[in-house]
This record gives sequence, C-alpha cells and structure tokens, in this order.
Amino acid sequence: MNQKPATPKDAAAVILLNDADGKVLWAQRNPQLAFLGGYHAFPGGKLETSDVLIKVENCPDEDLGKFIVCAARETFEEVGVLLARGGDKLTKGQRASLHDDLISQRMTFAEILEHWNLRIDANGFYYTGFWTTPQFSPVRFRTRFFLAACPPKQEPYAAISELQNVEFIQPQDALDRWNKSKVLIAPPVLLSLKTLSEFSTERRKNAERDKKNINSGLENNPLSSFENSSNNSAPLRLCGEILLKNSQAASGQINYIELNPRVICFPLKTDTLPPATHTNCFIVGRKQFVVIDAASKAETEQNALHALIDSFIEKDFLCQAIIVTHPHQDHLGGETVLQAHLFNKYNLQVPIAAHRLTAESLAGKVDIQKFIEDGETFDLQDENGEEFKFTALHTPGHARGLLVFYDEELGFLLSGDNVVGFGSVVIAPPEGNMKFYLQSLERMKNLPNLRFLCGSHGAAVFDAKSKIESYIAHRMEREKQILEAIKSGAKTAREIVEKVYVGLNPELLKLAEKSVEAHLEKLQEEQRN
Ligand SMILES: [Zn+2]
Repeated sequence: MNQKPATPKDAAAVILLNDADGKVLWAQRNPQLAFLGGYHAFPGGKLETSDVLIKVENCPDEDLGKFIVCAARETFEEVGVLLARGGDKLTKGQRASLHDDLISQRMTFAEILEHWNLRIDANGFYYTGFWTTPQFSPVRFRTRFFLAACPPKQEPYAAISELQNVEFIQPQDALDRWNKSKVLIAPPVLLSLKTLSEFSTERRKNAERDKKNINSGLENNPLSSFENSSNNSAPLRLCGEILLKNSQAASGQINYIELNPRVICFPLKTDTLPPATHTNCFIVGRKQFVVIDAASKAETEQNALHALIDSFIEKDFLCQAIIVTHPHQDHLGGETVLQAHLFNKYNLQVPIAAHRLTAESLAGKVDIQKFIEDGETFDLQDENGEEFKFTALHTPGHARGLLVFYDEELGFLLSGDNVVGFGSVVIAPPEGNMKFYLQSLERMKNLPNLRFLCGSHGAAVFDAKSKIESYIAHRMEREKQILEAIKSGAKTAREIVEKVYVGLNPELLKLAEKSVEAHLEKLQEEQRN
C-alpha cells in the first residue's frame, strides 16, 4: 500500500518589503482552501507556461527569469502590486482595472505589460533560494523566493478571495504572534521571518553603535534603503545573501515543521494508508521534552529523527518519555530503536509510555514501561526553560487506548489518528468502536480554548473546531446512508459498502467493510438501549 509522495510543482513567491519602515508583507490564506488554509504566507503561486514568454531585463539566467515573471505576476494577481518598471506612472484606478482584466482573463500578463510599456527588471528581485514542500503533503511546490521592495505609491490589498488580512508587519511582530500561537505560518515563510528579524535586530544594534548611522535613520528602518528597488542596494543584498545561504545549506529541504515554539512535527515515511505516505512524529517541549510516535521502521528516517533529538540531548535537554499513541503498525517501529539509541549513545534511560490498553495490545511486541492515564499532565519546558502543561486525553474509538495531547494555553491539540490533516480515519472493530469514536470527537471539539490541531498524518489544521465538526457530520451522514442501504435491501457489510462507498480505491475495500461493521455495531447497541 505504499504510495509515492507527490511531485513538487514549480512556483515562486515574493518577500515584499516596505521601503519606508522595513516591514514585510504577509497575508492569511483563506481558511477554506485545501492547501494550507488559514496559514499566513507571502504572495506567490504556481509557474504558468506563459511566464517563460515574457522577457526579463538584466537577467543573465533564463531559468530564473521565468520565476521572476511568475513572482511579479502572482504579486499583481494576489495583492495588486505591480512590480514592473513603469508601474508607478499608472494611477491606482488604472492598476485596479488592469488587475480586473488579468483576473477575468480579458488580457494576459504579457499583454498588459506590452500595452502599457511596462518592463520586468531582474534588478528589482533578489533571489533568496528555493524551498520544497515536505513529502507528507498531498500537494507540493518547489518555490523560488525573491526579495523585492514594494513601490512606494502602491498599496497592497487582498485582490483575490483566496487571501485575507493582507498587511505589512515587522518580522519580529509576526514571530511574536506565532510565538503566542495566534497564527499558523507556512514553514519557508517562518524560516524567512526568522532571518529577516535577526537581520533587522543586528542592523539596529550596529546602527546604535555607529552614531553616524543613527542620523541616517537606520535605527528606525534597518531593512530600508533599497534605492530604486535595485538589488545593488547593500541591505537588500546582505539580507538576501543570508536567506540564500540558509536555503542552500538545507538544499531547499524542510525535514520538520515547527508548529509553534513548543511543538515540532517530524513527518516520517511509513507504510500507512493511502493517500497518506507519512506518519507525524511530534517532539513536544525542548529543555524538557517528550517524543510521540517515533513511527518509522526505516533506518534513514530513524537516523534523521535521531539527529534532531541528539542535537537536543547535546544541549542538555531532557527527554522524559517516548510515547506511543496507539498500537497500529504505522505508529510503531522506531520507539524501541530510539530508546536503545539514547541508551547506547548517552547512557540515558528513557521509558516507552502508552495507555494501559495500548500496552495490552502490544504485549510481547513492545515493552511499555510507563502507563499514561486520561488527564495525566506532563510538565515540559520550552527552549527558554519556560514551563508548560501538556495533557494526555484517552480518546478511544479509532483504537481502544488512543491518546491525544492538548496544550490548553496555546489551544493546540495533537489529535493522533482521530482527526487527520490528510487521508482517512478507519474505525475497525474490535480495536475500533464507532460509538466511542464519536464521543471522543465530541470531547475534543469541546476542549476549552481549542484553536489549532495537528493529526498523525498531514499538515496542521487552522480551524480545529470546524474540522472536528465536519468529521462528526461525515460520520452521521455515513450512518444515514448505511440505514438507507439496509432499507433498500443490502444485507451484508460488503453489500452495504457497494452501495455506500462508490468509486472506492479497491485496496481500501476491507477497511470500508470494517467501518460499516463499526456503524452497525453502534446502531445495534443503540437499538438495544
Ligand atoms: Zn491508527
């Protein structure tokens, strides 16, 4: 059942800086979008074949040229800013009407440029490297990032319905919001914001040291002075060089995702149910941390995870436990290896922990040394040693002993296999129980302060509550369909599946049958009561 990860599509994005105050433009993706809905990101999007046809001035690298065009086109489409020489001579109204022509496909971007004698100049774009969406995502992009200065007379706005809350923000303020878990940020955007913030802090310090610079206003505007939006300007080049170096050092790969300052999601390749290809391992906390679902049986995956955990151990951070959420095979295989690794390399004894019922299912296979009860709290610490509570909730249904974890302060739920970002949840008796599953969904939905969730497969979800509600609605709808199938003569689980699951991947037939059995079990029990 092993699926191949999706092939990344070419894309470009713009880190648009405000010349006047060094703020950067970001926007929130519409929460309804399937790909990173609700996340904050930079303007950008997929490369179009027509992008190749537009000539870019001062660009010796043709391959990069098409991405500059893509970046300029997307910036115009999404936030209405025209990054073209000559764009400033147009009035706001003219730009709006050109935008309308482009969106309604009355004119192509090339036609707009030609008709108004506008030119794309590579000197206005500083290439800062590329980043590739991690393999666990069903949709993937290889995105080239460019630094550019926003032309002073143009004001960005949400020019398409896919975006909202378009704003210029100090990089540090953006990070502060993320630190407080007010926003989800796409991984490459988070990395860029960190660099931009460090860069402006550094320049601010230098400016304070150097009195002459204070007179030039640099202390207020560390990212400014992009004279003529040219990449020859020193601050743009310096900052761009750091961003580019970071991307090159990582070969554009994102191995893990920081969901918030406390939680790292480390997707590991596993033999899981299609369309998912990975299981999310979570490292929660830093100075005091736990590892949840070190799931991969593959050595390369284990080594990658160990390298990150080793870097924590070498900073004297303490691993409290290696936790198994439930006994399914795509959540197992790395926990004992990790335990042995920590013992052999550092002489550390870290217990493997799970719910009692999981330990029961794993008897003879995995030795569970610590039981975790419903409501049990871990006292963990972040990178700065600040303490926080991390609570285990026993939520049976998908598996008898399934544990999910909640950080109430940040409103962040690690929902295990109960609710996933990508793929489907199977309720297969006897481990699975539909009545318990629905009760668990209700319980999770009603958690106080609930904001975001991240399941064991796929990306974090922006609106946790409505995601859980949609899961409940989906199950109730399924139940209705099953009752109708029975009414119309279906007798066995297989017959019901044939009526209800139209166009099902044949590999999933057995599991669909199990799900139907789980519904039937629930219905029978309800009839008895
Ligand atoms: Zn599972």
